[in-house]
Amino acid sequence: SKAAGRNAVRFFDPAMQARVVQRATLQRELRHGLRDGELALFGQPIVDAQAQTCGQEALLRWRHPVRGMVPPAEFIPVAEQTGLILPIGQWVLREACRVLARWAADPARAGWTLAVNLSARQLRQPDFVASVQAALADAGADPRRLKLELTESLLLHDVEDTIAKMEALASLGIQFALDDFGTGYSSLAYLKRLPLTQLKIDRSFVRDLLSDPNDAAIARTILQLAQSLEMEVVAEGVETVGQYEVLRAMGCRLFQGYHFGRPAPLEPADPPAAAPAQP
Ligand code: C2E
Ligand code: CA
Ligand code: CA
Ligand code: CA
Repeated sequence: SKAAGRNAVRFFDPAMQARVVQRATLQRELRHGLRDGELALFGQPIVDAQAQTCGQEALLRWRHPVRGMVPPAEFIPVAEQTGLILPIGQWVLREACRVLARWAADPARAGWTLAVNLSARQLRQPDFVASVQAALADAGADPRRLKLELTESLLLHDVEDTIAKMEALASLGIQFALDDFGTGYSSLAYLKRLPLTQLKIDRSFVRDLLSDPNDAAIARTILQLAQSLEMEVVAEGVETVGQYEVLRAMGCRLFQGYHFGRPAPLEPADPPAAAPAQP
């Protein structure tokens, strides 16, 4: 048929073949990168209504030996498709718990929370709750300082199992945020059943907040919804003081974006030698 003919042509399309090879290379290099310590955890500040930092979001980076810093958008989708997200996600969680334990010993950071992005696939692992508990215990981190960020895609799979795992983790004191809120598959009925403490307004609604009345209406609606569900709201992608002020006037109390700070290494890759104590 005509369609089969087209498919046959596409199958031998050199550009497509190149993409397949590229993906396989990426997958192999990522596996080696995880093994060889090329992954790094960056952090971006989350600030309160007084513009004071009250926590950070952990953001994964890959320091590729040849290509340099590879952003997560370029390798997380492949990691999710191949299952490599499971060992990578474990590494992120354990690293994040070590950062939390270090913060606890620092009076300026002791109250901060660290938010970690989870892939829906991680939450589907039968031993996920135990693995989070082990990461916290091994690092000596306080579960109340750990926040887990999920997207609405988690609602596409076994919702009862997801809720049970979230509740088990919430009973340890771990908090949950719903990321990129407003962009995905939204079911307000499920939303109410999940033990969420926070919604994050996606930055696509923040970008044109001052010029697009639709975006302003969406931001306002999310803030009202969160208030009636007794959840916190973080506005993401705040790049200007104007966006910050409009959101604050709407009742938003938590903010994240380049206006307050760009992602930066959460800790040096090699801890510097201890400075001599000052007299
Ligand atoms: P996200 O969870 O929505 O993270 C926020 C993204 O917005 C980050 O991109 C951050 O650098 C960027 N951003 C923050 N403030 C601004 C701003 O003011 N303007 C603009 N234009 N962008 C801003 P990043 O670090 O490239 O991460 C992209 C995505 O990769 C994340 O989106 C998250 O979905 C995923 N990701 C990152 N780390 C992890 C991880 O450890 N595990 C998993 N499963 N996913 C991760
Ligand atoms: Ca996030
Ligand atoms: Ca987000
Ligand atoms: Ca996102």
